[in-house]
Amino acid sequence: MYQPKSLHEIRIYHSRIIMSVLRQNGPMTKNDLALKTGLSLSSVTNILKILTERKLVTLGDKIDSFAGRPATYIVPVLDAVYSIGIDVTQYHVRFALMNLGEPILAFDKHEILFENTDAYWDRIAAWLEAFIDSNEVDREKIGGVKMATRVSVPYNERKGVIPILLDRAPVMIDIDDISRKFSKYNFEFILNTKVAGAVYGLWEEKELSDYVSLSIGSTVGGCVVRNYEPLNVMDMSDTYGHMVVRPDGRMCSCGRRGCLEAQCSSSSLFRRLGFTSEEAFFQALDQGDERCRESWEGYLDDLTVAINNLFMAYDLDIVISGSMAPYLEMRRDELDRRLFREYALFPIRKQLVFSHDGEYAAAIGSAAVVINSFLSDKVK
Ligand SMILES: [Zn+2]
Repeated sequence: MYQPKSLHEIRIYHSRIIMSVLRQNGPMTKNDLALKTGLSLSSVTNILKILTERKLVTLGDKIDSFAGRPATYIVPVLDAVYSIGIDVTQYHVRFALMNLGEPILAFDKHEILFENTDAYWDRIAAWLEAFIDSNEVDREKIGGVKMATRVSVPYNERKGVIPILLDRAPVMIDIDDISRKFSKYNFEFILNTKVAGAVYGLWEEKELSDYVSLSIGSTVGGCVVRNYEPLNVMDMSDTYGHMVVRPDGRMCSCGRRGCLEAQCSSSSLFRRLGFTSEEAFFQALDQGDERCRESWEGYLDDLTVAINNLFMAYDLDIVISGSMAPYLEMRRDELDRRLFREYALFPIRKQLVFSHDGEYAAAIGSAAVVINSFLSDKVK
């Protein structure tokens, strides 16, 4: 269980819990909030005073209560802030729109091959504007637009020309130049795609405080989440993708052979066979295509090595996101059969959790960063 260290941390932590319960359950009374959050009535009262002052909650209708005085509904101000996350990958650009409420307000996806040209980044800027317009978002209320991509330098070195690693080879992008195209918003290349997925996991898997986040799509990677905080979130902890799962395997962009990413990205599963989407590949697999079956079996063997190693190294549940998440979940018995065999020693006692909206995990994770820091700033 997370133990906040200072009064200030406690205030932020309790505010987050209360806002989270309100956004999941809608308006409720102070007593119900105390019951639902497990906080004392006086803590709830104190936090609500701050949240009301900062216009994050308002007082709604009074309802009759059995115990004398009528009780008042506490109503969250869900549209106090909006946030947009953009995920840039080799084959797609994905958008997610959030406010303080649930569920995620809107998604958008464009199929486009990455190229580091002005025209490419301009198109993303234009799609962003269209996304904002079609969802009728008040631009004044946009707290930030955050972009996730496979940035392979630590957070404090993200200036000027830096390398990003999409699914083939590193590409040098001018981060300042690109940021200028989005400068009317509080814009940042905030996260490594795979770490953003971990932040998203926090949004979705509220009851899990500690887990390993593993994102599987056109790239593979992740990070550890402890006490609801991804470790080294602004850094480069996204390195699971380069653990070796098959010593004589495919050459990886990092120079090693048989890395998880080289063996288990979408390129190695189906793009090399000429398929352009997971859906098309799995359709062919279900129709008995031999090449697909062979690729899938090898893929599962290699992925199982990685997942087993993560279970053994961390002894934590593993949350799987990324564009492969729904397909792996549909075929989880094949994965389970390989993974959860009866081992006499060190059996796996933890579980695999599959994220929903998995392919949007990085976009949602980036947007969630804005929401989380908005709340922390507001109650500071
Ligand atoms: Zn590698």
